[in-house]
Amino acid sequence: MKNTSVTIWSVDMERAATIRQQLIELLQQGEWTSLDLSAELSIQEREVFSHLEHVKKSTGGEKIMVRPYQCLSCGYIFKKRDRLDRPGRCPKCKESHIRMAEFSLR
Ligand SMILES: [Zn+2]
Repeated sequence: MKNTSVTIWSVDMERAATIRQQLIELLQQGEWTSLDLSAELSIQEREVFSHLEHVKKSTGGEKIMVRPYQCLSCGYIFKKRDRLDRPGRCPKCKESHIRMAEFSLR
């Protein structure tokens, strides 16, 4: 008897592995914002972040380069941010005009 749940799981895993490989290739070519990657890979932005986190962990966090988010109102740079996803607002001036971070692999 066929186990349907296992089949679905492996298809998802295969899809995720393919996207992750495409993501790595893009990151090796240059710098991308999460929106660029979302468009290039035809996935949602939140999926981009989960794949980026995975790539970050699998490369020991050393190879992934992040040009940090920056507040467009006061110039605050989110240098010490561990998470890769977008900050909601600036901790300094509380504005939410944030310049996108750019990701690449060296
Ligand atoms: Zn600010």
